[in-house]
Amino acid sequence: MMHDLPTQLKLLVATTNAGKLREIQHELAARQMAVALLGLRDIPPVPEAVEDQPTFIGNAIKKALHYAHHSGLLTLADDSGLCVDALNGAPGVYSARYAGPHADDAANNAKLLQALAHVPPERRTGRFCCVMALAFPNNMVALVTDQVEGVLLHAPRGAGGFGYDPLFFMPELNCTTAELPIGKKSEISHRGKALRRMIPWIEMLPAAGACLPARGAEVAP
Ligand code: IMP
Repeated sequence: MMHDLPTQLKLLVATTNAGKLREIQHELAARQMAVALLGLRDIPPVPEAVEDQPTFIGNAIKKALHYAHHSGLLTLADDSGLCVDALNGAPGVYSARYAGPHADDAANNAKLLQALAHVPPERRTGRFCCVMALAFPNNMVALVTDQVEGVLLHAPRGAGGFGYDPLFFMPELNCTTAELPIGKKSEISHRGKALRRMIPWIEMLPAAGACLPARGAEVAP
């Protein structure tokens, strides 16, 4: 059993989203990796990281270093969003709060439809982007990115997924990402693909377990 392995590495995933944690657990378990996953709800409370960087890369690095520093644990953080060509890459890093600081998915989707109202089908291209950062306290280990291409519809389709999924149509699959079963979405999604790029970096670390920095031995980022 995974928990009995002597070289077990602890990995903090910088999220309170149980779904994200399950997705990552699923990928690691499939590879029989000796890693104990923790979410932010599994550790003593730490101050929330402020996502104020202008790029996905900046926010992912900031989050990974912040939570690694405060927890003393190896930490995986991600930042993701939708970039639409006709909107010069918007909503981008503002995807979660496109329609305002407390906007929900429906409000964000309504704003996107409005912004694209006069954009013809051939110019409604965009992509979901994901950046994942892996850090020790005060030390970056790895940074990976991936994306998935699609076309923004004029009206929502499908009841699955979250965020902009009902508007994100993938011509080669002939459906929106809200119409995909969860397993299939993880196979093709920006986050699933970025995670699979990150796994080899995590796999290298149990062997280096003796070198893990001790808590308190670091300088704040
Ligand atoms: P976060 O990086 O998980 O905080 O995601 C930021 C925002 O990007 C989300 O609130 C969604 O609006 C959007 N987003 C990121 N990934 C997806 C996805 O897989 N489907 C739909 N929307 C997404």
